[in-house]
Amino acid sequence: PLVTGMEVEEKPNVSYEKIGGLEEQIVEIKETVELPLKKPELFTKIGIEPPKGVLLYGPPGTGKTLLAKAVAHETNATFIKIVASEFVKKYIGEGARLVRGVFELAKEKAPSIIFIDEIDAIAAKRLKSSTSGDREVQRTLMQLLAEMDGFEGRGDVGIVAATNRPDILDPALLRPGRFDRFIEVPIPNEDGRREILKIHTKKMTLEEDVDIDLISNLSDGASGADLKAICTEAGMFAIREERPIVVMNDFLDAVDKIIGMERDEEIRKE
Ligand code: ATP
Repeated sequence: PLVTGMEVEEKPNVSYEKIGGLEEQIVEIKETVELPLKKPELFTKIGIEPPKGVLLYGPPGTGKTLLAKAVAHETNATFIKIVASEFVKKYIGEGARLVRGVFELAKEKAPSIIFIDEIDAIAAKRLKSSTSGDREVQRTLMQLLAEMDGFEGRGDVGIVAATNRPDILDPALLRPGRFDRFIEVPIPNEDGRREILKIHTKKMTLEEDVDIDLISNLSDGASGADLKAICTEAGMFAIREERPIVVMNDFLDAVDKIIGMERDEEIRKE
């Protein structure tokens, strides 16, 4: 990577079929990010500016990054990801310059998608008493806003941001012409969990007794990332016992382990 905390991928290999339980979110992101990239003339003809930025919000591991990558895949766009929290930690005094660099790169590589993960790290509401660190974060945010404002009607660069703390974002960021579209990406329900489990077990060698419906039922509260971990863990149980096939018991043990870990983490937080 050019800089730590930034990742560039030409046409990422993630299609919408690899995303489970987010049908509505896929429709929304297609309309707000994909359409302006694919058919900018639709917007010119009607005489409106395409949405510039979309904010995905919801708990960790629910598929926000996947959604952004799938749009890039679908539009043959370059995917440029920055993790805002790493940016501010690693490049003290450099945040604003780096933001400028990211937007330059995006224009150069257009069509492209800029994905800003954990945007709350640079876009939290202004605090009253500010330290020099806060002021540095402020400058980074101001630069981001300036870059977004500078992109009049450009359809070939899509900007997607993600956060699990939408409540602490600076309202300046959410003004029209900036991140003015919001898509909630929630923890999956039972149907969603079933879809996600189907995706992650697709390439696994499973015994006939493996009951995806039951695993979905038992994994209440699990995120997409947790469900993926459950599948991997089930596979590991089989490998440890030198079995070439994954059985239902492996999944039951994996659910216990992964859901149990989540629970321990919750307790540790309290
Ligand atoms: P974070 O906020 O922690 O960055 P995120 O919402 O961006 O999380 P992803 O990075 O997209 O989450 O998800 C992590 C991994 O979990 C994905 O690579 C994928 O394997 C799996 N996953 C998460 N959500 C889904 C989903 N809806 N369908 C299929 N797989 C999923």
